[in-house]
Amino acid sequence: MEKEYIGKCDLCGDKIYCRSGFLDGIIQSNHKLICFSCQEEKIDD
Ligand SMILES: [Zn+2]
Repeated sequence: MEKEYIGKCDLCGDKIYCRSGFLDGIIQSNHKLICFSCQEEKIDD
């Protein structure tokens, strides 16, 4: 599968990739990258 390295999670440091157009995590409004597992723990923005 084609994946492109985007950056590291701002909280846990996990590498975040874009897989076939889908990002592994989210980019917050402050432009920080957060992986999905950290996003679930951090609902408040
Ligand atoms: Zn994380």
